[in-house]
Amino acid sequence: MQNYKNLCRLLAKYYVCTLLMFCYRVKTYNQRQQLAPVLDNLRSLGKRIGFVPTMGALHMGHISLVDKALKQNDVVVVSIFVNPTQFNNEEDLKKYPRTLDRDVKMLGEKGENIILYVPSVEDLYGNNVVSGHFAFDGLERQMEGRFRPGHFDGVGTVVSRFFEIVKPGKAYFGKKDFQQLRIIETMVKNLKLPIKIIGCEIHREKDGLAMSSRNERLKPNYRDAAPFIFKTLKAAKKRFGTESAYKVTEWVRDQFAGHELLKLEYFVIADEETLQPVARKSRSKSYRAFIAVFADDIRLIDNIALN
Ligand code: AMP
Repeated sequence: MQNYKNLCRLLAKYYVCTLLMFCYRVKTYNQRQQLAPVLDNLRSLGKRIGFVPTMGALHMGHISLVDKALKQNDVVVVSIFVNPTQFNNEEDLKKYPRTLDRDVKMLGEKGENIILYVPSVEDLYGNNVVSGHFAFDGLERQMEGRFRPGHFDGVGTVVSRFFEIVKPGKAYFGKKDFQQLRIIETMVKNLKLPIKIIGCEIHREKDGLAMSSRNERLKPNYRDAAPFIFKTLKAAKKRFGTESAYKVTEWVRDQFAGHELLKLEYFVIADEETLQPVARKSRSKSYRAFIAVFADDIRLIDNIALN
């Protein structure tokens, strides 16, 4: 019975993928064995291959990465994969939005030069769904790494597997996940991979809220409250011009202390390069403020360059 159900699920997935491919002409691959020779062939023809890894539920933030990649490459591989090993919370993984048909349509509108890779967990991990252990020069111990144990081991594992399969010349990551971007840059440098990492600016809603797949899950009152996060970051930036990092941090904590809907998890002002929290400001360094906030059970992150 279970086998029969699995077979039906597989056939349904195959049918949906084929139908979507037909409708929107996005070349879609579910298996690395099928994708790799296609990319080998393109490489042998001298085509430049860009790569945009995503977890799907695409929005204009993702599309801004795809647009940049299309400008700089002949072919762009976009992956959609909700990576189980980077979630430290089972419920968060279960509730992560999955909108494959809509995603395929959005990518279809971007033209012919996109290849979509939607692997299964087995295709990337086989039967061993575990992370490797990575050290990223200590970058992994700050902020997201502290509050989401194992998160960056999962990210490092999945991104390095994708890099092995896709072998892109350039790969595109958003500054929305600035710590992740720094970590991937460090991984590529430490492993001496011949891949250029391109950081892309944060795409925001009109009211300032950083676009995120998780925003879809916000109830209306939480969605209305959420722009407060970026508003506070902008005010913190202004204060950082004249006040110490300590004072600005205290001020931000006060802003959230009395907030009815938004719960601050962390606010950190850190050196952009090392991601170490700033103790004393130096004119020669670049700083960035990082924030994580719970809106109900939905965790939102954002950041802003301070100088
Ligand atoms: P995700 O699907 O959330 O894993 O994101 C895939 C890629 O898109 C990551 O490199 C993110 O940093 C990037 N990204 C997500 N949201 C935004 C945004 N609002 N602006 C720019 N890049 C983004």
